[in-house]
Amino acid sequence: MNHLLYAIAVLSALGFGQAMAEENPDAGMNILLLTKSSGFEHSVIKQNASGTSHVERILTPIAKEMGATLECTKDASKINADSLKKYDVVIFYTSGELTETGEDGHPAMPAGGMDDLLAWIQAGGGFLGFHAATDSCRTGNGPTPYIKMIGGEFVTHGAQFEGVIKKVDGEHPAIVSLPERWPLQDEWYLFRNLDKENMHVLALLEIGNERNKQDKYNIPDYPMVWCKGYGEGRILYNGMGHREDVWEHAIFKALVKEHLLWVSGEGPVNAAPNYTETVPDTLP
Ligand SMILES: [Zn+2]
Repeated sequence: MNHLLYAIAVLSALGFGQAMAEENPDAGMNILLLTKSSGFEHSVIKQNASGTSHVERILTPIAKEMGATLECTKDASKINADSLKKYDVVIFYTSGELTETGEDGHPAMPAGGMDDLLAWIQAGGGFLGFHAATDSCRTGNGPTPYIKMIGGEFVTHGAQFEGVIKKVDGEHPAIVSLPERWPLQDEWYLFRNLDKENMHVLALLEIGNERNKQDKYNIPDYPMVWCKGYGEGRILYNGMGHREDVWEHAIFKALVKEHLLWVSGEGPVNAAPNYTETVPDTLP
């Protein structure tokens, strides 16, 4: 046996080949950002002449810092069992019925795409939804399987105002950078079909004086950031992010990073349902 063959034999015996094969998946998380808008396309995810959107330009350096690989797409046909295998985390900033081509003209999700997505999360995938993610795939009789998964359904919103994001779970690894109370100007979604039995509320929207200004918001404070366990997988929804300057905020960027790490499986799950302890049960 010459030296080269000997070296190969020794390395094989040590399982070196296997370690090499696993090197890529271990190098960092693989993230897919889907911004397909079958309904309304938000300005923050509109691609400019150079083919990038505001959200993509914010997320790209964040992913780089984390040693992660970020793929940004408006092609919802990538939501299928085969291509989902490549990713650790899928981010949705989507709108409308994704199985329809709809307003932005980008490819729709295949008919079985939703089942594939839900099965992928069940098997250990990480799902992160921002803002319009709850305004997606919601046409059906009662809450759709997607809405049940994400944990809430967009109903409407009023005029933008400065609300206060109030931290509910001070220990949670997915929101370490969130101050106890964070005043923030944004467009605040109102929800129905909140998955109260299964959601772990991370932060509420404190409505404050806006109750007296807009009838829509004359309701108790309600969840704006929550997470859930889902089979072996993890889900987090953050209702913020309509406005460009929200994405530019240092706190929001830090939160994005913490959300990504948590949904990817880092740290304890800490997703036990806590709705009744944190939210007045007078909510619709
Ligand atoms: Zn919006």
